[in-house]
Amino acid sequence: MQVATDIAALRRWRAGAVDPVALVPTMGALHAGHLALVAAARSRCATVVVSVFVNPMQFAPGEDFASYPRDLPGDLDRLRDAGADLVFAPAREVFVPADLATTVSVSGVTEMLEGAHRPGHFAGVATIVTKLLHVTQPAAAFFGEKDYQQLVMIRRMVTDLDLPVEIAAVEIVRDPDGLALSSRNVHLSDGERTHALVLSRALRRVRDVWDGDADAARAALRSALEPAPGIDLDYADVVDERTLVALAGQDHRRARAVVAARVGTIRLIDNVVVELRSTSDARGARSTHGGP
Ligand code: AMP
Repeated sequence: MQVATDIAALRRWRAGAVDPVALVPTMGALHAGHLALVAAARSRCATVVVSVFVNPMQFAPGEDFASYPRDLPGDLDRLRDAGADLVFAPAREVFVPADLATTVSVSGVTEMLEGAHRPGHFAGVATIVTKLLHVTQPAAAFFGEKDYQQLVMIRRMVTDLDLPVEIAAVEIVRDPDGLALSSRNVHLSDGERTHALVLSRALRRVRDVWDGDADAARAALRSALEPAPGIDLDYADVVDERTLVALAGQDHRRARAVVAARVGTIRLIDNVVVELRSTSDARGARSTHGGP
């Protein structure tokens, strides 16, 4: 496994890399969720590039850029074991120089949910992902469903900018108790971690009882989360899986139940697919997808 810390080194290595190349963008402090992306990339492509870069552009002032977990030596060990071929780990000044004046922003799907709570976040993500795609030129790039709105935005961006890359999605990896893995989880105290479990539990319940009644599902989600101890809810909603627009009334489209909450000082997000599992569940409507 090689490590590149500047763009010239990455481009030199890329010129000799065996196609197809996969890209897995990360902010490091890697866990089993990230490694599932690397495994998916490994199974599909001859060569796997993983970027490790805590992107300052995607943190708003007052967010946790300074305290975001960082562990490059540990990440390199994990990536060597996972079979990555190249790790791109640029310094901040290399990838986001002080005079950077160009940004990429995607409208529509970035305006609600995370976009409404994190000003500038998605333009920061879109700009850095665009740069990573340009310098790496992958055939496929792998993203987790954990950051579902990010995934939807990247797909929109790649379509709109005619970027020649396939965007591959990987399901959320969870701890056995249901908590979605996140680099930020290391900052949770035992008590906070217990409080955080209500998020995945409420999502699971909505998924299990989903009958296409979006208003009832949204109300159930909020009434489970708003009074939950230790949880400060930012949003809980049931949205169309492609447009992210909130569903209303009876709606039999495949959807996502999405939540974001602060637990202590840590902000957590999670989501599940909600879909009708059989024709009887659908009260006559046809489900085009299998059960979860
Ligand atoms: P991050 O380092 O948090 O920016 O995440 C890098 C990539 O890993 C993103 O595409 C995330 O969606 C994905 N990811 C993070 N946590 C998980 C998880 N628990 N399961 C699956 N993918 C994840």
